[in-house]
Order: sequence, then structure tokens, then C-alpha cells
Amino acid sequence: MSSALANSVEKRDIAFHIHSQTNPQLLEERGPLVVTRGEGARIHDNAGKTYIDAMAGLWCASLGFANQRLAAAAARQYGELGYYHTFFQRTTDSVATLAETLVDLTGMTGGKAYFATSGSEANETMVKLAWVYHAVRGKPTKRKVIARDRAFHGSTIAAASMCGLPFMHREFGLPLPGFLHTLCPDPYRGMRAGEDEAAFVERLAAELEALILREGPDSIAAFIAEPIHAGGGIIVPPQGYFARIQAVLKKYDILLLDDEIVCGFGRTGNWFGKETVGAEPDMMALAKGLSSSYFPISAVVVAPAIYEALREVNKGGGSFGHGFTNSGHPVGVAVALEAIAIYREMDVVAHVRTMGARLRRHFEAIAAGSPIVGEVRGAGLMLGIELVADKATRVPFDPRLQAGPQFDRIAYDNGLIARCMGDVLGFSPPLIVDEKDVDAIAERCATSLRQLERQLA
Ligand code: PLP
Repeated sequence: MSSALANSVEKRDIAFHIHSQTNPQLLEERGPLVVTRGEGARIHDNAGKTYIDAMAGLWCASLGFANQRLAAAAARQYGELGYYHTFFQRTTDSVATLAETLVDLTGMTGGKAYFATSGSEANETMVKLAWVYHAVRGKPTKRKVIARDRAFHGSTIAAASMCGLPFMHREFGLPLPGFLHTLCPDPYRGMRAGEDEAAFVERLAAELEALILREGPDSIAAFIAEPIHAGGGIIVPPQGYFARIQAVLKKYDILLLDDEIVCGFGRTGNWFGKETVGAEPDMMALAKGLSSSYFPISAVVVAPAIYEALREVNKGGGSFGHGFTNSGHPVGVAVALEAIAIYREMDVVAHVRTMGARLRRHFEAIAAGSPIVGEVRGAGLMLGIELVADKATRVPFDPRLQAGPQFDRIAYDNGLIARCMGDVLGFSPPLIVDEKDVDAIAERCATSLRQLERQLA
């Protein structure tokens, strides 16, 4: 990108803009990628280059980058009511409809939905509701939250504390006290020699139970988990993991908070990731795919007992002391309703299963012919490729080689946007991809891997 630095967009961006998750020095040296427009699963930059974005931006633009129905739904809503809120008993017809739709879609029978504007806010809302739930039942000391190593749950202070990724803590002195971490259920890296999946699950459950007992069960409010880790490296838990973990949680009266922010709305080949992994949460956080990220809207769907606690704590006349200016924003709600209508019309679950299976077949063929692909894993259109120095022994590359970041650069030059998480390459394309898009992603991935192999040789 360095030649493009003559362009004033790049200069002004470097001069004035603080980027998220970006190394400042690298930005200054290489300049930003200036995105000008989108078209289906593709984006264009200001130098006229086109990329297939095999990450749907940040795992989120499920309907691609310029869906005209979503644009029209937003425009219609802006014309009718461009803002209202949900404090002090206010609502709109669409807010009620979306809440009903989400309760129905998630299968949280008898439950209710709360609206916020980001995934981080949704996750923090779940934590606050967990505190209310326990306090109302006479257990106010149940406050701590357990997350897993390599989890990603957002960037606000409690959400970042729940992350199990050191880079989310390093600059800020996090995690906050009371946010704990247990083992990541990564079969590829976590299973010991001679251990099968069942034994691994038992060890994960035993570690969790030991942590709960060490901290004191009366101090633990909740356990938060993504059905399949996204940003932590596309980690599919071993068979039976959630059932076994939930038995431990139930034993100690600990709530399961389900972060569906990436996995929700078809991504894993089911409407929600909880179906893919067999989890039965008490609360679910939704964002990203909810509106295909065309508007910052998120939601928390809760089981009836959680709402009952909220009702109970305020029965003396108080109000739920929580809310965001843009909770239930009419435009976000209109866009989300339109996105869900489109998911239903396109039969998103069937489409993701077909396209996901096709992409996976391509990746498995690539893996078979590559000395540096250790594993292909994932579900639906959420797939990962783990790079290794030695396939047989699973020995990773020396981190100084920066194998994953090198792949990102090569793929980018080849017009493919993927996402390295260390040496795991992530693929989470828009859910509207067709056969041609999937084949193009795989072909560019194969070409890029061959170049990387030569570079690493
Ligand atoms: N949870 C998961 C699993 C995510 O991947 C993300 C964002 O990538 C978040 C939470 C945080 O969402 P937001 O950035 O909207 O706050």
C-alpha cells in the first residue's frame, strides 16, 4: 500500500484516525486499505482493486456489502421515524415484532429480548442480569464470571476481561478481578497423547469443577462461552462438551451465557450455534448477523427466570437501571427484521450447509497436498486452517516466522481477505456466497498457501 500514500485519504487517515486492533507503526509504514464500495461478497479499494472478503468484514456482513433491500428498509424507516428509544415504557411496533421474532427463533420459550447496540454491550448486559438473578434469589455473593482461554467477548471493560486472549488485556491491566478463565476446548492443541475426545471432555469438566471449588461455588455467577470460538482460532469443542460442562454448571447453580455474536443467524449451519454444539443457555447474546451489521444493533434473549428476577427486584417501584440511548433504535430494528426475512427466504441454514460443505471439501483437498496445513476445522461457513511446521507431530511454526500474518499479506495481494489468528487462518464469508464465490476463495487460498510454502522453505 506504500505507493498509495501519496493519496490524501491515506495521509489524512494516518494523521487523524486511531484504528481498532491495528499496530500504529505498521499503519504509518504501510498506510490503510481504503475501501470504497461493496458488491455481494466483494469489496473494492480506491486503487481499483477488488477483493473477495472471505471474512464478511468482521464475521458480520452475512448478506454481503451492498444489499439493496437492507438499504431500502433503512431508508424507509429513516423517512418514517429516524429515532426513538425504549426507556420509560416507550416502544415501537417493530421493536415488539423483533423481540417476538427473536424469542421464537432462538427457542427461548416464554423468554424476552433486550436490545443494545454492540456485541460487547450485549455480553455485559448478560453479566448484569446474572448478578440480578442471583441477588434476587438470596445469593448476592455469586458475582464472578468464568470464561475460557482464547475466548473473544468484546472490548468494553467487562467484555474484555472475559476475553481469554492476552492481547486484549496487556495494555489495560485487565482482566478485572472476578473474571476467571478455564481451559479452551481445543481438541487439536489441547488433547494429550493417548487421550480421546471423551477423556478430554472429562478433563475439561474436571478442570472447571476444580476452579469453581477453588474460588467457592457461592462466588460464581455465570460461565460465558461461544458455541464455537471465532476470534480465538475457530475452535469446535469436542463431542459432548457442552452437555458435560452444563452438568457441572447446574450442580453449582451457575448460569450459561451463550455468546452467539458470530455463531448466530446461520453461520454454523444452524440458526444458532447452540444447536450445532448442543448447548442450552440461560441467556443468548446476538449481534453481527442480526442486521448483517448494516446497523449497530445487538440483543440479549433471556429465559423466563431471568426476566422474573428483574421484575422481582423492581417490584417495590424501582426501574431496571440499565439502557443505551440507541437500544431498540427503529432503523436498526427495521434492518434486522429485513435481514431475518431475507435469511428465511434464502433458507440460510440449507444454503450455509451446502456452501460450507463445498468450501470444506476444497480446503481438505488443499490440506492433503500441503505440507504446512495441520488441520481444517469448523462448521458451516465458519472454517479454519491451522498452519504447522510439521503435520505429523503438529509442531507449530516458530512465532518469529509470522506464518499466519505472512499468509494474510499474500492473500491480500491475491485479492482475498482472510484473517490470521496466530497461525490459524479464518474464513467466515458472507452467507450469500454462491458456488463461484466459494471456488474463488478456495483457489486464491490454494495459490496463496503455495506462495507461503515457498516463502517459508
Ligand atoms: N463476541 C464475539 C464472539 C465477537 O466476535 C465479538 C466481536 O468480534 C464481540 C463479542 C464483540 O462485539 P462488538 O465488537 O460489537 O462489541
